[in-house]
Amino acid sequence: MAIVTVFVTALLGALLVFAGWQNRAGRAPVTWGVAFLLCAVGMVLAAVRGMVPDWLSIQSANGLVLAGLGLIWLGARQFDGRSARPAMVVIAPAVWLGFCAVPVILGDINMRTIIASTLAATLAFAAAAEIWRGRAEPLMSRIPTSVTLLGYGSVMLARVPLTLMVPQPAAAYHMTASPLYPLLAFGSLLFAVVLAFLLLNMTKERTELRHKTAALVDSLTGVANRRAFLAGAQRLVAQQRGDGTVLAMLLFDLDHFKSINDRLGHAAGDAVLMNFATTAIRSLGEGALFGRIGGEEFAAVLRVKDAADARAVAEQVRVAFAAAEQADDVGPTVSIGVALQDETTATLAALMAVADRALYRAKAKGRNRVVTASGLADDAEARGWHRLPASA
Ligand code: GH3
Ligand code: MG
Ligand code: MG
Repeated sequence: MAIVTVFVTALLGALLVFAGWQNRAGRAPVTWGVAFLLCAVGMVLAAVRGMVPDWLSIQSANGLVLAGLGLIWLGARQFDGRSARPAMVVIAPAVWLGFCAVPVILGDINMRTIIASTLAATLAFAAAAEIWRGRAEPLMSRIPTSVTLLGYGSVMLARVPLTLMVPQPAAAYHMTASPLYPLLAFGSLLFAVVLAFLLLNMTKERTELRHKTAALVDSLTGVANRRAFLAGAQRLVAQQRGDGTVLAMLLFDLDHFKSINDRLGHAAGDAVLMNFATTAIRSLGEGALFGRIGGEEFAAVLRVKDAADARAVAEQVRVAFAAAEQADDVGPTVSIGVALQDETTATLAALMAVADRALYRAKAKGRNRVVTASGLADDAEARGWHRLPASA
């Protein structure tokens, strides 16, 4: 049993190190891998008790396992980008070795068990807490990982009262003498396998999440990109809601943006785009879907009471942006076209085309204003003006 546990633990460690290296998923998997390797060495030393000097099979063995658990904790902090001093890892082994320096303790298997178990439990609980703290990042494996570490810590902690109630004979020399040993060995094996699997899975889930995010988020402003916006808008357009609200499409196009780039530089232009995204999201509120659909073009879909309501929301964005940028007559300001969903604008493409016509009117009327599509049907100037692809 001990041989299998050691072998499997070492293998899992190597696997984690390899995955970390290959994945470039940060240092955490490598730290975790080294943790498993240290635990494996510690377990080998503990298992060969009697064949090697005691300082190797008692002091060093437990010290290495505690260092391994400390590295699990350190890796958990690294995984979530929290600062971590690697030196913290030696605290538990140092405390352990400190106790071992006391001959009475060193000579008593029960006292040693209590101290080592308490330290191991503390580290496992600390690691569980670190993993749990990062739960804002939606990785499925986080919860089982925390629970597994919590479970291991609890078992370790349970050894303390157990040892007090059923002490081993002081003469007990090898840990295999304990009647609980097979259970303990099997538990460690199970814990190692499950934990390694979950840690690897967390790493993999993060990579997938990052890929997914990269495909759907505009890298400059952090808002939904064109693809994500259109997909979300498509869903909202298809939804039927009998709650008296109506779907509104707002198209935003920054005014004279080319001249901002020309006068102030591309970086300043980028800053204006970021500022617009931030301002718009704040003004639109939680219920709105907002995205960047082109260079200096943004769009929002939200449910409103009526055209006046939609207009008021658009006006809020326009005013807030002008105020945030302290705009003058050369900008930066925003023109906004508003369209509401009805029988003639049942599809997303139709709704966007109408909003786009309204936007065009806002530009034609002098920019820095909101135009609502109602009444545009007879507008000769705007008729037939389709900039957006019909496939949108
Ligand atoms: P109008 O008032 O008619 O909308 O004029 P405009 O200058 O805003 O319109 P136009 O479409 O001619 O210019 C858009 C400019 O936006 C051109 C392009 O260089 C700039 N642009 C597009 N994407 C980015 C970007 O990511 N960063 C910066 N800084 N500029 C961008
Ligand atoms: Mg434009
Ligand atoms: Mg523009």
